[in-house]
Amino acid sequence: MVSERPDSHQLPQPFEANLLVVQDVIQALQTLAGWHRLRFSLPVVGITGSNGKTIIKEWLYQLLHTDLRIVRSPKSFNSQIGVPLSLWQISEADQLALIEAGISRTGEMEVLASMIRPETGILAYMGTAHAEGFSGQAEKIREKLSLFAHSSLLVYCRDDESVENEVKAFVAGRNPLLRTFTWSYRSPADLRLALVRQDASHTCLEARFGTLTFTIDLPLTDQASLFNAMTCLAYCLSQGYDPVRITERMHELRPLEMRLELKKGIRQSQLINDSYSTDLDSLYMALDFLSRQGQRNRTTVILSDILQSSLSGPVLYGKVAEALRQHGILRLIGVGSDISACRDRFSGITETLFFDTTEALIAALEQIDLYDHAILIKGARRFGFERIDRLLEWKHHDTVMEVQLPAMRRNLRQYRQKLSPGVRIMAMVKAFSYGSGTHEVAFMLQHEGVDYLAVAYTDEGVELRKAGVRLPIMVMNPSESDFEDMLTYKLEPELYSLRSLHACSAFLRKRKQTAFPVHIKLDTGMHRLGFTPDEREKLIHELCATPEFHVVSLFSHLVASEDPTQDAFTRHQVALFSQMADPIEQALGYRCIRHISNSSAIHRHPDLQWGMVRLGIGLYGADERMTLEQVATLKTVISQIKRVAAGESVGYGRKGVVHRDSTIATVRIGYADGYPRSLGQGAGRMLVRGVQVPVIGHVCMDMTMLDITGVEAAEGDEVIVFGESLPVTALSRWAGTIPYEILTGISQRVKRIYYDE
Ligand SMILES: *Cc1c(COP(=O)(O)O)cnc(C)c1O
Repeated sequence: MVSERPDSHQLPQPFEANLLVVQDVIQALQTLAGWHRLRFSLPVVGITGSNGKTIIKEWLYQLLHTDLRIVRSPKSFNSQIGVPLSLWQISEADQLALIEAGISRTGEMEVLASMIRPETGILAYMGTAHAEGFSGQAEKIREKLSLFAHSSLLVYCRDDESVENEVKAFVAGRNPLLRTFTWSYRSPADLRLALVRQDASHTCLEARFGTLTFTIDLPLTDQASLFNAMTCLAYCLSQGYDPVRITERMHELRPLEMRLELKKGIRQSQLINDSYSTDLDSLYMALDFLSRQGQRNRTTVILSDILQSSLSGPVLYGKVAEALRQHGILRLIGVGSDISACRDRFSGITETLFFDTTEALIAALEQIDLYDHAILIKGARRFGFERIDRLLEWKHHDTVMEVQLPAMRRNLRQYRQKLSPGVRIMAMVKAFSYGSGTHEVAFMLQHEGVDYLAVAYTDEGVELRKAGVRLPIMVMNPSESDFEDMLTYKLEPELYSLRSLHACSAFLRKRKQTAFPVHIKLDTGMHRLGFTPDEREKLIHELCATPEFHVVSLFSHLVASEDPTQDAFTRHQVALFSQMADPIEQALGYRCIRHISNSSAIHRHPDLQWGMVRLGIGLYGADERMTLEQVATLKTVISQIKRVAAGESVGYGRKGVVHRDSTIATVRIGYADGYPRSLGQGAGRMLVRGVQVPVIGHVCMDMTMLDITGVEAAEGDEVIVFGESLPVTALSRWAGTIPYEILTGISQRVKRIYYDE
């Protein structure tokens, strides 16, 4: 669907698709999808709200897919384009559609509502986030409710007063035929809940539904997950499902973000563990994820029988084999009697191994060459593949940094929404992506369509290339000895002084290169790297005399873009920049990309976005002026707990004197891991069982002691150093530094684990 007929040379050849030329692509797509949806009479459930739409949708799928054939929005496809694409998937065989709808400003929901026409509505959590496009919370709720203008049932939680009021007004004013099914911890409701008990990993609730009382045991503890799970339960009850059956299935619910886990394996391998489910859709998603991990030529998939599919074995495993082939999977290890019985389907795969049971595979595991493989482990729960995962996982000292790639993706999208059309994004992945990892992050950014990457040193760029990153990469601080590598690995240098310029041009001349892409850094006040204003004429002269260069971009760096009291200086930098860049461009005779904005400038100075912006810290979630998501969670573990009597001291130098009988926990992180020593003696805090407890005594090299008096903790418990409920910005404040230093200082011996959806 296009608005302009492309020239045939712009199309891939051979071109095997139909082109629909329409006036307005999005509108046409929406009209078409709305028409498609009306061809089917299946019940459609519309899910909206501020947080948790995707989780509710995925959990409902997990709870009900054994009973019904369900079509659902892929991933978080809930936008003006995502919704039509979701609806387009509905087919004759489907028995239930779960469709997400997300909006960012007034007026958008009407369009989505007329397309989706949900019979039943589910209102997810209405937090106060993302309220920018609305005049206030009430208007945001009202706008979301308009999805249900023609629905007959709405499922929601009564505990938020503003939601309750808006729903009442909505029923009275806009849809008198709307019935409601409510749940609540506090007020009378169709489903009434009470917390029974909660420990570190489980929550037990008591539910009352009509005359029935039952208990629910969930492997979840955080408020958001509980809200989403209860909303799912309420929907199922509203549809007449047996409470006992549903609550049994709820034992299996897992946070979605935990679905695909990427970590280092033994023998240089990389492990992806997808313990979520084993339907075909999720296999396709996991294979996509596997192939996004770059240039590992050697890929192994360990797959169990796929249970509960409506397809016959040969058809089902034929589809699996096709998908493995398409993704260039080298080896399949099939576990289970069904997949083994269909082994002839997999003749197109280079290497296949089949085992009847997980135990049989474990017994043979030593003999299988896994060196340097990327390994996907995907098994139905009853095969217990976590045992394989444990055997293949690289063992560590238990302090890990978990990186949520979906959160980073959403942060990126938040900034993208703030950009004027056509502005490019250069993502700053220097210093191990601000401590978050190298190619894992770069691949995600590449997949998200970022235009450029920037690193500080050539080595970092070489690593990204070796891992298979294809995006253009700027190197900010290349040294003269690096040019050979820059050429080999297609890296683009920043030139910042006449010396660096001469060295580069001499090298290029010797190697007979012309029009080599370079970036010119102008110093407008940072006084770090860059050509100064008084070097302007010399620079122009040199650039014009050097056909070996093609100047891709002219740029500078803002000194204090985050600080309103320095806005006059920011303007001064901009004026200086123009005075230098204008004549350079004129003399060169071609246009260069101009860029000056870092993360905070993107939203504080939108008029400075120009041709490109350089997004750094915001990606990683540490810009307090935006409602970003924390990307990294640093976790450690309690090694030992002991009682220390009043008057005794803890740690080196007798600095941690205890004034009462205390309980002290020793955790496995110290300054060698990047936990600043300045956080000792009560300055820093960590989260133990959700409670903030102070550091006592000095931070040691590999360990730190916490005063956990009054907190019921056990040895082996997980401890959060920073993360969602303890932002890294709090830590940096305590340590008297900035989040940049904390994030990049987490040492390489701390294993990174990546999660993706
Ligand atoms: C690190 C860096 C950025 C990114 O800055 P953030 O504040 O992290 O967004 C941009 N430009 C240059 C030259 C940098 O060195």
